[in-house]
Amino acid sequence: MVAKVSVTDLHKSYGDNEVLKGINLAVEANEVVVMIGPSGSGKSTFLRTLNKLEEPTTGSIAIDGIDLTAKDTNLNKVRENIGMVFQHFNLFPHLTVLENITLAPIELGKLSKAEAQELGLKLLDRVGLADKATAKPTQLSGGQKQRVAIARALAMQPSIMLFDEPTSALDPEMVGEVLKVMRDLAEDGMTMIVVTHEMGFAKQVADRVVFFADGYIREEGTPEQVFNNPQDPRAQDFLNKVL
Ligand code: ADP
Ligand code: MG
Repeated sequence: MVAKVSVTDLHKSYGDNEVLKGINLAVEANEVVVMIGPSGSGKSTFLRTLNKLEEPTTGSIAIDGIDLTAKDTNLNKVRENIGMVFQHFNLFPHLTVLENITLAPIELGKLSKAEAQELGLKLLDRVGLADKATAKPTQLSGGQKQRVAIARALAMQPSIMLFDEPTSALDPEMVGEVLKVMRDLAEDGMTMIVVTHEMGFAKQVADRVVFFADGYIREEGTPEQVFNNPQDPRAQDFLNKVL
């Protein structure tokens, strides 16, 4: 079986600063991989290289068997299959919630307007916001906005979802509603890579936990292995601070 995501010896430098120092990772279909690690360790850079928002310095990345580093690859096509959710939601303030969700699939010719609206309403229902279709983003709480951002990513019917600290900018009381949507998505079989500091989510939902430090994957395993019996001293130190 072809891995959904296959990363081989990935390096990324900004000038003299080598941020990724040889990352190898394969993610299987339906797998949920949670990435943890200290700030500045390269987690966001890694996620951004997966859809070429950042150009890798060397190494290879394949998504669904398609080599992103090959010159003739149609990056836009590959990107359509990768949903991304960031800390900041970046919804268009002048558009309604439903318009935010249907914009990309309509603009990119993936769905007709009617199809996109039908799917958009289904997705809003799925994230618990069926009654917010005609609301503007400014009328929503942070947790609601992030759930709209997830629905917007899902509207492209991606085969993999990447999350970069999706709850870090939220007030504490709104974290749970966003994590619940993510947990439901995982249970539905979505392939997911999630960078988060929510260790409870990692323990409950991750098939695999990957610990990043200093541009390397220092430790990886099941949540039980990584949380209860970490081998790497940096992982031990990090987990002592966050658990
Ligand atoms: P994390 O997400 O784990 O906190 P990042 O991937 O954001 O880590 O950052 C890793 C390192 O890369 C940091 O030293 C950061 O300053 C550097 N970095 C990230 N993006 C850029 C950029 N666009 N230009 C220069 N340096 C960057
Ligand atoms: Mg980051």
